Amino acid sequence: MNNDKHPKLDCIFCRIIAGQSPSRVVYEDERILAFEDIHPQAPVHILIIPKEHWASLDAAPRGGEELLGRVVAKARDIARDKGLAAAGYRLVLNTGPDAGQAVPHIHFHLLGGRRLSWPPG
Ligand code: AMP
Ligand code: ZN
Repeated sequence: MNNDKHPKLDCIFCRIIAGQSPSRVVYEDERILAFEDIHPQAPVHILIIPKEHWASLDAAPRGGEELLGRVVAKARDIARDKGLAAAGYRLVLNTGPDAGQAVPHIHFHLLGGRRLSWPPG
């Protein structure tokens, strides 16, 4: 079932994008998907991803800045829609082993709805 648009069907997030794995979609357009994290760490825990398969921030290509900016702006919009703007929220981008990145498809975590401790573990 590989195709040109979503060639990485060994990637769980590419499978979600392709509709081949279930997810609870919060937002979708041609280039971005947002869906609920399967193991929420806060009352709001949403993953926002570019549909292009970039394994991490470090693997994001030159020229990807505009899409990255759109993903961040979309996270802001979703946070507003969820009523988080006043109380605040956190946008997390784990990159590589020391950060505990588990899924090798770049994703921002939008976390909110409770007080978040700092520094992170
Ligand atoms: P990270 O450790 O930054 O790579 O985060 C990966 C996140 O993806 C974790 O919070 C997982 O709970 C989440 N996750 C993994 N598989 C799925 C899935 N099928 N649907 C939704 N979230 C997922
Ligand atoms: Zn992928």
